[in-house]
Amino acid sequence: MLQSGEQKPAEGVEIKTEKKFGLNEERFIVCKNCGNRITSSENIISVDGHHTHTFTNPEGFTYEISCFSVAEGCAVDVDPTLENTWFEGFSWSFSVCSNCLTHMGWFYERGDEGFFGLILDRLVDRTTTH
Ligand SMILES: [Zn+2]
Repeated sequence: MLQSGEQKPAEGVEIKTEKKFGLNEERFIVCKNCGNRITSSENIISVDGHHTHTFTNPEGFTYEISCFSVAEGCAVDVDPTLENTWFEGFSWSFSVCSNCLTHMGWFYERGDEGFFGLILDRLVDRTTTH
């Protein structure tokens, strides 16, 4: 079982904006369940050196998540907790699709910083052509 057992100081978690795609290749990322636009490839960021992370929660479920600076199609249940957090120093809240309320992932915050960690299985990439 995968564990995120490494203990790192809070300042060791780094958030970086990473432009992986050219402007003409913007991809919308939509809810797999209802097609609601959740975010886009423009908002992909790197957290702690990686865009995607794999974590296993205390119940034994493994999730592969991607990090985004903004997810305008998500509604956040603002009730942050640091319990079992996957990013040291960041508290998390549940984040759902604002249209169909499917659980999409989590919103992480630390002071003024925040980002979305969204479950890859629940998202679909839609490439748009300009
Ligand atoms: Zn949805």
